[in-house]
Amino acid sequence: MPQVLSALIIGFVASQIAVVCTTVFLHRALSHRALSLSPGARFAFRLVTWVSTGIRPRQWVAVHRKHHAFTDVEGDPHSPLLLGFWKVQLGNVQLYRKCARDGEVVRRYAKDLPADKWDRALFDHGVLGLGLGLAFLCLAFGWQVGLMAAGFHVVIYLAINAAVNAVGHMFGKKIYENTARNSQWLAWLTAGEGLHNNHHAAPTSARLSHAKGEIDPGWWVISLLVRTGQAKVRLGSLRLATPRVGEALPEVLEPEPDAPVAAR
Ligand SMILES: [Zn+2]
Ligand SMILES: [Zn+2]
Repeated sequence: MPQVLSALIIGFVASQIAVVCTTVFLHRALSHRALSLSPGARFAFRLVTWVSTGIRPRQWVAVHRKHHAFTDVEGDPHSPLLLGFWKVQLGNVQLYRKCARDGEVVRRYAKDLPADKWDRALFDHGVLGLGLGLAFLCLAFGWQVGLMAAGFHVVIYLAINAAVNAVGHMFGKKIYENTARNSQWLAWLTAGEGLHNNHHAAPTSARLSHAKGEIDPGWWVISLLVRTGQAKVRLGSLRLATPRVGEALPEVLEPEPDAPVAAR
């Protein structure tokens, strides 16, 4: 097989590993607490997120929670409706960095994720994590294929994550009354994140597919973690924050599973 093709396949697989860490760990578990992870699974996600993305989880969580607090209005860190599609699709990294480096945003939106000893020693050093990831690819596949694979990984990961913020707020189906959109093709590439209209309608749901024909590969990973005792899903059913198009919100909401029995 030509080296470029091998590198493309390895880079794509690496980007999918990073995508799963992003949606299951950074997004659904940390940002929305839609699921909780066992200490072992949590540590594994921290490690793989570090070497595959270099992202500091509390920064990602803070930027993302701010996006939910100001969706497509002044204050949204990456709204294509306010900034234009291409500014978000091509400039997502710069928009993310600008917000993530604002200490006040991180203090305000990620209070529950203070730095611990592992962050100070390892995970806060994103360049070191990415360097280790690159070294792993070079050792496993040879330096030429490893370098190319790392390049493909970075481009694919950044492009599809930008697409969640850009395409996911401009193009696709609108099932619920919010400014996000559903695209199944994007959901295939992003382990479910393309079902973004569903997500803004029910942000605390660990599962992003709501109806027949919608497929959320990230949910398969979560189901496996639940079956092996590595994760617990918080809510048993959908808790809608925005109604279906043309409908009112259901009056009776599912009680919190951890609410006292007497209050149910
Ligand atoms: Zn969104
Ligand atoms: Zn979210």
